[in-house]
Amino acid sequence: MTNLRTPLRFLQGTGPARVARLANLGLETLGDLLEHYPRAYLDRSHITPLGELQPGAHVTSVGCVRSFSLRRTRRGMRNVHVILEDPTGVAECVWFNQPYLQRVMGRGSRLLVSGQVELYRRLQFKNPEYELLPETEGEDDDRDADSGGIVSVYPLTAGVSQKVMRRLVGQALGELGALPEFMPAELVARHGFIAWDAAHREIHRPTSLARAEEARRRIAYQELFDLQLLLAISRRVHQRPRTAWRLVPEGRLAGRLLAGLPFALTAAQTRAIDVVRQDLARDRPMHRLLEGDVGSGKTLVAIVAALLAVEAGAQVAFMAPTEILAGQHARTLARWCAPLGVVTETFLGGQPAREMRALRSALAAGGIQIALGTHALIQEGVTFHSLGLVIVDEQHRFGVLQRAHLLGKGRTPHALVMSATPIPRTLALTLFGDLDLTVIDEKPPGRVAPKTHLLPEGRYAAMLEYIAGELDRGAQAYFVCPLVEASEELDLRAATELHERLQHEERLAGHRGGLLHGRMKSEEKDRVMRAFAAGEFRYLVSTTVIEVGVDVPNASLMVIEHPERFGLSQLHQLRGRVGRGRQPAHVFLVRRKGIGPDAARRLAVMVGESDGFKIAEEDLRQRGPGDFFGVRQSGLPPLKVADPIGDPGLLETARRDAFDLVAAEGLAALAAGPLWRRLEMRFGDRMKLYAVG
Ligand code: ADP
Ligand code: MG
Repeated sequence: MTNLRTPLRFLQGTGPARVARLANLGLETLGDLLEHYPRAYLDRSHITPLGELQPGAHVTSVGCVRSFSLRRTRRGMRNVHVILEDPTGVAECVWFNQPYLQRVMGRGSRLLVSGQVELYRRLQFKNPEYELLPETEGEDDDRDADSGGIVSVYPLTAGVSQKVMRRLVGQALGELGALPEFMPAELVARHGFIAWDAAHREIHRPTSLARAEEARRRIAYQELFDLQLLLAISRRVHQRPRTAWRLVPEGRLAGRLLAGLPFALTAAQTRAIDVVRQDLARDRPMHRLLEGDVGSGKTLVAIVAALLAVEAGAQVAFMAPTEILAGQHARTLARWCAPLGVVTETFLGGQPAREMRALRSALAAGGIQIALGTHALIQEGVTFHSLGLVIVDEQHRFGVLQRAHLLGKGRTPHALVMSATPIPRTLALTLFGDLDLTVIDEKPPGRVAPKTHLLPEGRYAAMLEYIAGELDRGAQAYFVCPLVEASEELDLRAATELHERLQHEERLAGHRGGLLHGRMKSEEKDRVMRAFAAGEFRYLVSTTVIEVGVDVPNASLMVIEHPERFGLSQLHQLRGRVGRGRQPAHVFLVRRKGIGPDAARRLAVMVGESDGFKIAEEDLRQRGPGDFFGVRQSGLPPLKVADPIGDPGLLETARRDAFDLVAAEGLAALAAGPLWRRLEMRFGDRMKLYAVG
């Protein structure tokens, strides 16, 4: 018997070599193949003769390649230009920056192309979908006799052709037989959805483009619904116990902290603190996500929350994603909380075993009130005496499972989670919908957003001149190098080289600079960060380890090397490191020659937009649903079809349906039904957390 988990090698014609190639696409089982959805369609049932093309229309045509050329543009792109002809006329096809096409097609090739027709000097298909046809017509008709008029275009990997992919998917559909429906019939009917089985047959082998669209809608809904159902279940499970510790402090400690600060809370911070305070006083555990743009002052809210818990007699676990950040929070806490008599200790990975043992026993005996740390904090063997509140900073770096793991250490501690990336509210609900949400939508007064400049490479020396002048006046600067090809080794080398170069830079003579990267030992990193924060280093050359959360208010300048290699949200995080003090801040994005159009567009967005929420939205839009931000890091399967930005209505609907269903059916009934089996298959281990018993 075959089922969704059957490995691909059981399909005909898939030997070890092909199985290995398919694995490159993440395809290992029949179920994976079933969910390998087409990225486009070629509609062969309506072939438009080239002589009848109209600008603006989306059409499919067939023609022979009369000429083929590879042209280099001034910006370093290598574009393929093809003149296609049929008996009725000619048209041009252009593919941007896909020079490998010269190995795929040439003069005389017969092509099927599909896309938007534009008038640009002559009629032109821009980046059309294409398919190579056999050079004589008869063969072609023969081969595709079974595939109808509309054929799917799949994402491919080297060594697997469209033809093979179509055959494999067809085989999988055949082997699996009718796919059972798992949604309540009432919901399917209410939304007028097509059945699960029909949706998969139509999305892979559509009888019409309209049907393919219906299929896509059903599958998109399902992706969102599954996620929302998971969240609804999680929420139900976490809300169930009324066994949380009711933390009801007078607020003396927090009051003393706030009275001693040189600034007043923003209204948004005050609101957030009020909500947290109410949460802590309840017997249901708090599960709150605190969102805000970089620099909006989330840490202070977290520290006040910690002090409220401590005053009520609880221990607090404060988790940061990196050692640098844990070290920074440790310094902040030492400055703000130690004078109040609160005992704070830091747990890092690399501490000597003896020291670690002593810390652990102090924690277990209740001698430590706030425990700061990275992952080391959730290692086995770390026990708390009376854990009442867990704070997780820059949440997206932590897997959801880890969060649950830590929560398991107390009975039912309260949890406050801070997100580094300001994402629009509906999206936050999609990703973290099992949490309550508080948005800090205001920054401390007097902040001026950093001014972002695109710096042509040729102006680098002039920029250094400017920076040197600012350093002379007491400013501090970051130089950030990106991850190179995801290799830490190269990453490191780029930063080291830049550090060398700057040290020999005459203009910067007299200013000491530090180097910071991920390979350094934690004490070393801490030492460099301290020196920079204390102003001993006037500039810091760093890999992206500083991306998250680092706070040195005196630093007002930032140079970002190879900004084209960063995502938008990441760039925004980076530049959020400056503009934290009162002096105006400047960010220089070094623009090298030959970057692609997408990267250029991203950089333009950075220059023009300073609102983190807008940038996050744009980032999501550009990356598309396939790489939905945060979904990967949270350990959830990516959305393949659903586009919550393009269609927020569908998300809202799915959310309402899922929460209503959990409310109406209850967990026990759901756990016995087919939807639960589906979630187990999609979300694996996560569902074990919600085992009902
Ligand atoms: P983020 O929200 O990015 O984590 P931080 O918590 O690091 O921001 O705060 C950024 C800086 O703003 C810190 O130096 C912090 O001390 C300062 N800050 C926080 N709240 C206020 C406020 N209400 N007024 C002025 N400065 C503040
Ligand atoms: Mg922060």
